[in-house]
Amino acid sequence: MGQELTGRFATKVLPVGAQVPPDERERVLQQAGELIRAGQLVAFPTETVYGLGADATNASATRQIFAVKGRPADNPLIVHIERWERLRQVAASLPPLAATLADAFWPGPLTMVMPRSPQIPLTTTGGLETVAVRLPSHPVARELIAAADCPIAAPSANRSGRPSPTRAQDVYEDMAGRIPLILDGGECSVGVESTVLDVTTSPPTVLRPGGITVEMLRRVLGEVQVDPAVLALQPVVGPARSPGMKYRHYAPKAPAWLFEGEPAAVTQAMAAEAKRRLDQGERLGLLVCAETAAALKEVLPARGDQLVWRVPGSRQHPEQLAHAIFTLLREMDREQVEAILIEGVPATGMGLAVMNRLRKAAGYQIVSCHRPAYNGA
Ligand code: AMP
Ligand code: MG
Repeated sequence: MGQELTGRFATKVLPVGAQVPPDERERVLQQAGELIRAGQLVAFPTETVYGLGADATNASATRQIFAVKGRPADNPLIVHIERWERLRQVAASLPPLAATLADAFWPGPLTMVMPRSPQIPLTTTGGLETVAVRLPSHPVARELIAAADCPIAAPSANRSGRPSPTRAQDVYEDMAGRIPLILDGGECSVGVESTVLDVTTSPPTVLRPGGITVEMLRRVLGEVQVDPAVLALQPVVGPARSPGMKYRHYAPKAPAWLFEGEPAAVTQAMAAEAKRRLDQGERLGLLVCAETAAALKEVLPARGDQLVWRVPGSRQHPEQLAHAIFTLLREMDREQVEAILIEGVPATGMGLAVMNRLRKAAGYQIVSCHRPAYNGA
């Protein structure tokens, strides 16, 4: 268990992006593959977020993932493959819809839950007889799996409970000294994790919304159910369909409040709360859509450094918000704000994944805003 101690490794960060000459890139990926084969951990980019990888077939290697992340042992890992044929090593049998879904969404941000092959130890699946599998589209992820020549178990490469990392620098912040190598492939394009779909139920069930939307799944499958825990208003207690649902997640260091509802009412409530906190001298973070930022800037006094604005994009484009939310939550930590007020968005399309993450990031401190208050006009 020594590897959980900070300082055990001089963590290397090696670039593997398009700017690196092909033979150098190949050398780094081979070195990373050898580390994985030797039972060590390597962090690597995927199109969703950075993953913390280990040989999925090696229980002592995947046990290190739990130790290094501080992750509860019953929260299973997603197993990554680089080609369809490797699924045989991971799943005991193929649910009927798996091939249809793979045709439509692999490679890409869809994870399917299937019966576990005996080659995948129970340590990797958190004690479950099912395994979650994904074929990512990011070339570095796929080349790493090919170089290691084994399925790679990889949760997000953050310390448990923290926002997921979308840049190598975020991984370094959480993992320096704990792992030997981080592959730096630049910023992740999707920015939130994969959609986890249980294909052993009929109809299939979304256990975690993510990079493939429920609407996209319904266009291919017709019927899809969404587990009610996905938009829960409080933490899940007791047994969960997907163990990850039970745990504190994505939390910035400062307490956060999520303002949900009708945009004009949200703007009004956020303005009032921001003014109150600014008057108390608090250093405050505001994470809001472009439309609301424009409205708030008109009514909030200029406070220089006391007010930290982060604007991930337009309310009309939830994929822009998905791309930026984890990065911006980590920036709020670096800015050392004392509280964060966050604007919610409609939970449709990518908005469902965004709201699932934001409710957890806010620790379910939700302010419901349904109608602008009467202002005497
Ligand atoms: P992360 O590794 O942080 O992206 O989290 C992986 C997510 O997949 C967690 O929410 C897990 O609960 C979920 N997951 C992994 N394996 C299974 C499985 N066999 N059954 C249900 N959910 C799973
Ligand atoms: Mg995670």
